[in-house]
Amino acid sequence: MSRMVYCGEVPIGGGAPIPIQSMTNTDTRNVAATVDQIKRLSDAGCDIVRCAIPDMEAAEAFSSIKKQVKVPLVADIHFDYRLAVMAIKNGADKVRINPGNIGEKDRVKAVIDAARERKIPIRIGVNSGSLEKEILEKYKGVTAEGLAESALRNIKLIEDMDFNDIVVSLKSSDVKLNYQAHRLIFGKMDHPIHIGITEAGTIESGKAKSAIGIGALLLEGIGDTVRVSLTGDPINEVHFAKEILKALNLRKSAINFVSCPTCGRCSVDLAKITEEVETALKPLEKEMGKKEMPSVTVAVMGCEVNGPGEAREADIGVACGKGKGLIFQHGEIKKTVKEEDIAKELILYLKQERSLI
Ligand code: SF4
Repeated sequence: MSRMVYCGEVPIGGGAPIPIQSMTNTDTRNVAATVDQIKRLSDAGCDIVRCAIPDMEAAEAFSSIKKQVKVPLVADIHFDYRLAVMAIKNGADKVRINPGNIGEKDRVKAVIDAARERKIPIRIGVNSGSLEKEILEKYKGVTAEGLAESALRNIKLIEDMDFNDIVVSLKSSDVKLNYQAHRLIFGKMDHPIHIGITEAGTIESGKAKSAIGIGALLLEGIGDTVRVSLTGDPINEVHFAKEILKALNLRKSAINFVSCPTCGRCSVDLAKITEEVETALKPLEKEMGKKEMPSVTVAVMGCEVNGPGEAREADIGVACGKGKGLIFQHGEIKKTVKEEDIAKELILYLKQERSLI
């Protein structure tokens, strides 16, 4: 098991629940816009938010941003160690650097010393797009071995400074290479690993790459915190990261929604019913999160042939028939309701069960 580090009050690693991360895409110097986006991300379920710090003005703005939000903030720094030091002074809960592009050892040490003083962790972020020149030459381009070697080398550099509050990430937009690189470092160090597919793309392709890339690693027990990278509004990243964790039963207080694809046997408007149920489940899931309740499975099935089996397995389920639905709760038939009442009744059962009324 990995060590545990804390980003603000959020534990990462050491068997803690896997926090979801995302990154703002506002100009960090625009404090109002950045605060607004951070609050929206946090509201959507993002546990840790990262902001790019491209210059001193952004590092200074970080201080005002930090005062206006509750969620832990990570400062993302490239090249200039002074930006990292300033962001740490201005309240960063973690700093993400790639020591390879920070340069001289004493500059990296200045960042580590500042982090040590404020007791915050450092994320060593190795990326296929910014591998050291000698590694690229040694491996004749970007390879899993090169990514792993760069990560292990940078970890050692920081460990040798007697600093162990480290989170590691090594990312590539190539799903297979990403997977192989993680397998190469897993077990060779005990720092928590931040996983994700970098530059995964737009919603459709990005979701596919992220589901495979992040899912495959999590199934192997690799990954202590996740970030889905999608072009566009980062809120989508949070929603999708939640779905990945839910699919693997790694999200607490989650509603796992099961519905059938429908076929010629279906004699209700299942698309309409599932949409109604899913919309009603979103605020309920939020309520459950606040109260830290156990997760629940809700199933909506289209017919009496395969429906009852799945509906019975769920905590709350419905197997539809001609213009009606048979409601199940923990395997027991509760009642038969008209098609137009299915969504409402299912939600009612769930609310009653979880005392959410
Ligand atoms: Fe078809 Fe029934 Fe299966 Fe849905 S549950 S896909 S309607 S057989």
